[in-house]
Amino acid sequence: MRQSRRILVSGGAGFIGSHLCDKLLAEGHEVLCVDNYFTGWRRNIEHLVNTPRFEVMRHDVTFPLYVEVDDIYNLACPASPIHYQHDPVQTLKTSVHGAINMLGLAKRTRAKIFQASTSEVYGDPTVHPQTEDYWGNVNPRGIRACYDEGKRAAETLFFDYHRQHKVRIKVARIFNTYGPRMHPNDGRVVSNFIVQALQNADITLYGDGSQTRSFCYVTDLLDGIARLMATGEDFIGPVNLGNPVEFSIRELAERVIALTGSKSKLIYLPLPSDDPKQRQPDIALARRELGWEPKVALEDGLKETIAYFRTLLAS
Ligand code: NAD
Ligand code: UDP
Repeated sequence: MRQSRRILVSGGAGFIGSHLCDKLLAEGHEVLCVDNYFTGWRRNIEHLVNTPRFEVMRHDVTFPLYVEVDDIYNLACPASPIHYQHDPVQTLKTSVHGAINMLGLAKRTRAKIFQASTSEVYGDPTVHPQTEDYWGNVNPRGIRACYDEGKRAAETLFFDYHRQHKVRIKVARIFNTYGPRMHPNDGRVVSNFIVQALQNADITLYGDGSQTRSFCYVTDLLDGIARLMATGEDFIGPVNLGNPVEFSIRELAERVIALTGSKSKLIYLPLPSDDPKQRQPDIALARRELGWEPKVALEDGLKETIAYFRTLLAS
């Protein structure tokens, strides 16, 4: 097998995708970044454009793509509620048609394909922490359904292409991940709170802030994805990748204020509908099969992310 592989990263100009492009290029591979720039940013990949092994293609994954590749990482999909709810039909098409097109490409080229699934497949979970065998509690008609059900249908497609066409799949359910290169207007909680704190603006807590999330730093996630892609044919997932240390959203706000030295005040806004009350990954499977667990503490990851946004806001 060639050491240097031709790798397609869909959603490669996004937050996680751009870090993945960096990592794969640093390992010596050829990377084809495919993105329609819906939530991605050229700025995230502009440091790579003069790298000979890097190529960018503006393309919407809801349309077929004919390229020759060895591996595919399917990350194309808006991930923040405000963005995936902006055009819900397009969000669902991106997950479903995007999966069909990327799986069709994997089938033709015999590429191994990674799917960025999500903790949202568990919906507002009644099992806590969430294990991979839990089927979830998703409102199929709610405002999050375009994302949640799209990702669930994508998982169905991945497992059916595997069973029916023997496509080599790897499926990870990613829990809330944060770090540099999140978009400042992304709307997700970590970027919102840091940008608000750095501007001494009100910190917007939705609901009473008692809902919980578990935050994984992006380098930990990439390590988990790499280990999953390196597993043998018999392990395909789905496997939870996330940090099991759980915080309330109010605690997160207080930490961000303390770390930024901000004068911001907490304000309380209505909780969006179907907002999950609690979320924490059970990572026993990842520990066992991948030998993986997150290493970066929230405080350290937040410091890196705050430094990134400080520079960005000053530029
Ligand atoms: P992001 O919004 O920064 O990146 C998504 C990228 O996909 C963007 O560059 C966007 O322009 C691109 N894209 C969207 N629709 C497209 C389309 N139709 N065709 C081509 N490109 C398209 O989000 P992210 O946080 O980097 O998330 C990456 C992936 O990981 C997503 O699939 C997301 O669902 C998944 N995920 C992320 C998290 C998280 O906490 N960050 C959690 C669970 C799952
Ligand atoms: N949230 C908040 N204020 C914000 C943005 C988000 O209180 O400015 C809350 C949101 O209601 C949710 C949690 O933070 O309970 C995480 O939201 P995010 O959009 O980051 O991700 P998700 O809900 O998809 O986990």
